[in-house]
Amino acid sequence: MVLFGSPGSGKGTQAKYLVKWLGIPQISTGDMLREHVRNGTELGKAIEARMKAGQLVPDRLVNELVFERLHRPDCRHGCILDGYPRTPEQATELMGFLEGTEMTEVVIHLVVDYNVIISRMAGRRVCPQCGTLYNAISNRPAKEGLCDLDGAGLMVRDDDRADVVRARLDEYEALTRPVIESFRKAGVKLFQVNASDQGPQAIFETIRKDLETSGLAGKELVGR
Ligand SMILES: [Zn+2]
Repeated sequence: MVLFGSPGSGKGTQAKYLVKWLGIPQISTGDMLREHVRNGTELGKAIEARMKAGQLVPDRLVNELVFERLHRPDCRHGCILDGYPRTPEQATELMGFLEGTEMTEVVIHLVVDYNVIISRMAGRRVCPQCGTLYNAISNRPAKEGLCDLDGAGLMVRDDDRADVVRARLDEYEALTRPVIESFRKAGVKLFQVNASDQGPQAIFETIRKDLETSGLAGKELVGR
């Protein structure tokens, strides 16, 4: 299961729900790369040398890492891939790998209205004194622009500035769109889930219904 979601789509929360429901592991390529480096494996040494030279970890190494992981017994009922595939080339390699196994890929794309995310993040304020977070929609300060606890003037965090959020969303779009397209062209099962105007629980129910209706997951498939 490949999970895609832009910043602000709640991807991490949905991954946790899916892990709990299906009892399958979540595999983060970032975590795996760090683990290999920490443990000083051959792969880890190769990765570390690349990173020290300021180079990207090549697709071949990342693919090897993921495929080795997918062969382990805890993945026999499936897994959730997080942060992989990152390029259309990796997506093609993954599809090729899965053809030789009993596994099949399913893509879930948490689709959000970027204007909703930008206005949500733009409404956030932080107290520079005590770090308390406020939100123009759900957690307003008693006095506009001032911290309830110490009266300090609230500020917009750099991360929440509209132009910064917009740039992160554009970057995500440019990186992810071609990967999703390569799955679509290959005819992979792809679910587009509206993650803008429903809460996390409702979004999860939508995903669950989609997976059950299509026979990809459900009571008879879970917990074998
Ligand atoms: Zn404060």
